[in-house]
Amino acid sequence: MILMRGHSDKGHRWHQEIDLPLAITLVREHAAIVVNRRTIKRLYSNKDFRAYILARDNYICYFCGAFGDTIDHLLPRAKGGHTTPDNCVCACTLCNQTKADRSVEDFMGRM
Ligand SMILES: [Zn+2]
Repeated sequence: MILMRGHSDKGHRWHQEIDLPLAITLVREHAAIVVNRRTIKRLYSNKDFRAYILARDNYICYFCGAFGDTIDHLLPRAKGGHTTPDNCVCACTLCNQTKADRSVEDFMGRM
């Protein structure tokens, strides 16, 4: 097991144990950094992460190009996707609701 440390939106520190494959995924997708062999540090609180993704995508919906202010997981969490910069995009409310927990392939196939 790997210890993951982070901080909440209010600045409280937290930590939890996660398995090695997830730790590697989080580091690889730039959601966390390696502190030492057994510890990683989550880079963003939930609020920070949201603000980061929306600013990165200029509040433009990844799917339709309209204004968006929600976060969508390209590979849905229900299907094993993680909350990482590589897997999250800005989406408008409509696309987010329409896509729900489908993959991008599934969503576009039925647009
Ligand atoms: Zn949209």
